[in-house]
Amino acid sequence: MTADYKSIINHIYEEVGHMPLKGAVADYIPALAEVDPSQYGIAIATTSGESYGVGDCFTKFSIQSISKVFTLAMVVRHLGHTLWESVGREPSGSPFNSLVQLEYEHGIPRNPLINAGALVVTDRLMNLYRQPKEEILNFIRDMSGCDDIYFDHRVARSELSHGARNIALASFMKSFGNIDNEVDGLIDVYCHQCSVAMSCMELAKSFLFLANRGVNPVSGERILSISRSKRLGAIMLTCGFYDESGDFAFRVGLPGKSGVGGGIVAIIPGEAAIAVWSPALNSYGNSIRGIETLERFTTLLGISIF
Ligand code: GLN
Repeated sequence: MTADYKSIINHIYEEVGHMPLKGAVADYIPALAEVDPSQYGIAIATTSGESYGVGDCFTKFSIQSISKVFTLAMVVRHLGHTLWESVGREPSGSPFNSLVQLEYEHGIPRNPLINAGALVVTDRLMNLYRQPKEEILNFIRDMSGCDDIYFDHRVARSELSHGARNIALASFMKSFGNIDNEVDGLIDVYCHQCSVAMSCMELAKSFLFLANRGVNPVSGERILSISRSKRLGAIMLTCGFYDESGDFAFRVGLPGKSGVGGGIVAIIPGEAAIAVWSPALNSYGNSIRGIETLERFTTLLGISIF
């Protein structure tokens, strides 16, 4: 492990961990409202095979929207450019679960990382696989090199019983012909992918293929072409934090993705992936300590993609 990474992560963990805890856990999914907001973990994994973590870095949490990157990678791998006829690649400037742009833009979501776009991606994934839920788990297990990754069925059920907004998004897009599958089945797969439970350590390792130009550095398998890997990184940078994406790029300067479970993962191209978990969120649904941690990380190391 590059000595700098380890000591800087320890240093940030101490400093940020002592700051007053601000924000609130997501409560629109009742199971997430029960999570202890004081938990905090950081893990980094490098493309050369080293890893290091601190705090609650081995505690599993709900990855929520971070799963959108996995499903996007799975679909882009098979569909390539045809996906971009059904979903855009511009920042939305709107909250993750917003409906407003969809009507003006004829049911074509702005990008694959807002809920509407992720629903289109999952819909296409259901066209590709007979057992989409199992395939999602298999993909994440392969990317992380860890078999112990499952759906948290309690979280999935909790979101399914409070899924009116996502059902509305999917139904609305279906009315424009941009959803192929039945809405109920789609929401079921989507809520399960969001319910996947992983630790920071597993998450950091699972994003290494994107930090390594599309090749899983452990197995040597090419997951995405260099060009598609670049595109996913670009979408994470411009859209990964919804209407806070510009601010994340400004403060951190790395492609990343957040989830309302309080996780954030970011990639340092050619080098490493870093994951942070702290469940207290800001009004955009992004982890406050997560962003603070990553801002300090890139500032202290003097690294960014710019
Ligand atoms: N499952 C959540 C939802 O659809 C994911 C949102 C998120 O993590 N930003 O509302």
